[in-house]
Amino acid sequence: MIELEGLTKRYGEKVAVNNLTFTVRPGIVTGFLGPNGAGKSTTMRMILSLDYPTAGDVRIDGTHYHRLKNPLTYIGALLEATGVHPGRSAYNHLLWLAQSNGIPPRRVDEVLDEVGLRAVARKKAKGFSLGMGQRLGIAAALLGDPRILMFDEPVNGLDPEGIHWIRTLMKSLAAQGRTVFVSSHLMSEMALTADHLVVIGQGRLLADTSMADFIERNSRSYVRVRSPQRERLLDVLNGAGMTVAESGDGALEVDGSTAEAIGELAARHQLTLHELSPQQASLEEAFMQLTAESVEYHAHPGTGAPVPPQQWGASWTKG
Ligand code: ADP
Ligand code: MG
Repeated sequence: MIELEGLTKRYGEKVAVNNLTFTVRPGIVTGFLGPNGAGKSTTMRMILSLDYPTAGDVRIDGTHYHRLKNPLTYIGALLEATGVHPGRSAYNHLLWLAQSNGIPPRRVDEVLDEVGLRAVARKKAKGFSLGMGQRLGIAAALLGDPRILMFDEPVNGLDPEGIHWIRTLMKSLAAQGRTVFVSSHLMSEMALTADHLVVIGQGRLLADTSMADFIERNSRSYVRVRSPQRERLLDVLNGAGMTVAESGDGALEVDGSTAEAIGELAARHQLTLHELSPQQASLEEAFMQLTAESVEYHAHPGTGAPVPPQQWGASWTKG
């Protein structure tokens, strides 16, 4: 369990983390979501006592990080810039970490196997790809077999296979009863991994909710229907009291009903359907609405034009 209470960090005038209070619980994956610059990495550094809070407090299983004996056996973390000496091999890097944390050396081989780096374990880290570097960082996090794991944007820059591997790993760690806290600036990534969601913007807490609740509250579900007898279908749907909107491409969007009900209704009126598909409005839209006021977005370099909201996801920049 990780408990934050009024956690705050100022850098000069800038309030990077603003009075955050929430608890990260065991047995589930908790997603830590926010646009770039929201304060995710700063928060995670404070959890690990790598940065000192200006105000507030953070505890790991009731204790401050710097009071933990052999901290890697309580909490393992993959941070953004996890430095590995370039001339050191993966094996030696992990062995050094193990020895300085009272961890038995056999764990080195175990975690190298777990992350799939055994074959390159003796090669120098400077020859590692981004994906291999991430795997080595995760091996280090797992080394002490900790009950709490924290990952800062672990899928950044990874290929689809690596992304899938990390998602599966996080879920299995949570299923073992561990506390898993993972950050991302992508709603779509969180939706696939997290059971619980903590959203921040400009250092402030915007939401602390189960993923299921977030999805239910924020996604509009409707059914898309296309028919060559569009006008008759529209009459029939309206006649049945359904709320129908027209989409730009000639399809109809029916709210508050099901594909089954619409299909049966159409059949009773002998109407041909070319499409009958349940839809969910994107969670990305909900996330953007939630963080809209807190996003510090800038003009595209060179164009001077403001970034339209639909491109924010691709162009959030540090403020
Ligand atoms: P995130 O990880 O969510 O992208 P960060 O925690 O890296 O956000 O940054 C939060 C804010 O704090 C940003 O505005 C960033 O520029 C600022 N910041 C982070 N670290 C420092 C630092 N060492 N000195 C000054 N400002 C910092
Ligand atoms: Mg960050």
